[in-house]
Amino acid sequence: MNTKKLEPLKRLLLIDNDRCPVCKKILWKKEQYLCGQCQRALPKNDARTCRRCGRPLISDDADLCQTCRSNGDRPVDRGWVWLVYGRTAEQIAAGFKFKHQKTLAFWAGTQMAAGLADCPWIGGIDVLVPVPLHPNRLAERGYNQSEQLAAGIAAALKAKGLDIPMDTGCLKRLVDTPHQLGQPAAFRLKNVKSAFAVAEAEGIRGKQIALVDDVMTTGATLDACAAALKAAGASSVALITFSAVAS
Ligand SMILES: [Zn+2]
Ligand SMILES: [Zn+2]
Repeated sequence: MNTKKLEPLKRLLLIDNDRCPVCKKILWKKEQYLCGQCQRALPKNDARTCRRCGRPLISDDADLCQTCRSNGDRPVDRGWVWLVYGRTAEQIAAGFKFKHQKTLAFWAGTQMAAGLADCPWIGGIDVLVPVPLHPNRLAERGYNQSEQLAAGIAAALKAKGLDIPMDTGCLKRLVDTPHQLGQPAAFRLKNVKSAFAVAEAEGIRGKQIALVDDVMTTGATLDACAAALKAAGASSVALITFSAVAS
């Protein structure tokens, strides 16, 4: 079906979303972001997970992912991941990262909150900190997708009676790092290690922070953020990610 021809009709019905980002089926319901079939088939991270960062595990006999095994000093205390990275998560993330679907990221955050509400440590979190974009990238995209995820999470948790504020000013990205996917792990590590700094330590000192990000590949970006937050006095840093590559 040609979406272009259907656009006037969709506008008449006040439907501004387009197609299911996964299967490309046309969506007809207002505030629907995935088709029913793709929604039911979401690759939720509900099998075995890394006991430190929450990443889905490949091996049956390990309880830490490869990243946590090779780096025992990760500045990360705990983690929760919504989707196992694969084609589905990639398509949704591509929608909110490269196709300017800001509301898709917010919606994903609200969906994540449904699972997060059952996470044993979520009640202890003092503040949500989205991984910041460099100002150049922010200007290019118009919004920070991790901030949209965090805003969706915060709104949906608040509706369940759990009020966790979001802080978007404390952490800054100093270096405009190139896109991480598809780059060798060693390059990524070097690339992001000093890319973040805490601008305002006031709201962080002694706090239990949850960092919010879209996709965890090596975890280098999240580790760099977590290290900066801990150096500024955070008492613990948890990770909340939309999706993570299994290892
Ligand atoms: Zn679909
Ligand atoms: Zn791990």
